[in-house]
Amino acid sequence: MKSHVTIRFYGELNDFLDAKSRQKEQDCYFYGIRSVKDLIESFSVPHVEVDLILVNGESAGFEHIVGDGDRVSVYPGFGGIEIGEVTKIQRSEQGGSRFVLDVHLGTLARYLRIMGFDADYDSQRDDPEIARIAYEEDRILLTRDRRLLMRNSVERGRIIRNKDPLLQASEVLERFGLCGNINPFTRCIQCNGTIESVPFDSQEYKELQEHIPPGVKSWCSEYQRCIRCGKIYWRGSHYDNMEKLIDRIMEVCAESRKI
Ligand SMILES: [Zn+2]
Repeated sequence: MKSHVTIRFYGELNDFLDAKSRQKEQDCYFYGIRSVKDLIESFSVPHVEVDLILVNGESAGFEHIVGDGDRVSVYPGFGGIEIGEVTKIQRSEQGGSRFVLDVHLGTLARYLRIMGFDADYDSQRDDPEIARIAYEEDRILLTRDRRLLMRNSVERGRIIRNKDPLLQASEVLERFGLCGNINPFTRCIQCNGTIESVPFDSQEYKELQEHIPPGVKSWCSEYQRCIRCGKIYWRGSHYDNMEKLIDRIMEVCAESRKI
């Protein structure tokens, strides 16, 4: 028997639909058995972008089998909005704000690290490896490639909508509610390791002196070091530039909240 269901996508999930299908109920006909996840992805909407599914007004999971006459409503993340008596898609919260980025998002990875977020990135990885890291380390996968997010093993992720890295950074902060969690200059821009202050009276402090340019030593006495790769940081002019960058990202966040 041929089944007929209607489906409607809400909010930014419409970004994945063609113009004539957006913001309205759509008819869908199929034979056999179909899960909500299959139904959603038949519209090229990655399941990881979905936070809530209602079937005939009741919360449902991805594995729910849809039946003839069902009405399916699909919602993206709600941010801080109270959504009442419905059950969102259950996902592990362990990952928090830990990300893994695909090979095309190197600048975004750098910006996230500057703001103190754990942003795993390596330009040499292929898609299966990125998906594996997202799964095994419970990281949020950021990409501009829809097919990468449609892999079954990927539980959490986002298609980055913007092309400009500055806007991309704002987009990530907004989507994952991280505007208040920025902790600048705590993570190595080069390798994503954490940065720690080197105590003034330590042996390590003495040893690192030989790596500091004389022009810096003359005015700077505080240094930090990446505990993973050993890169040394100090408050030079690059700090000012990075502070300006963070200010700009936060401004974009504030502007987009006004809209
Ligand atoms: Zn490092």
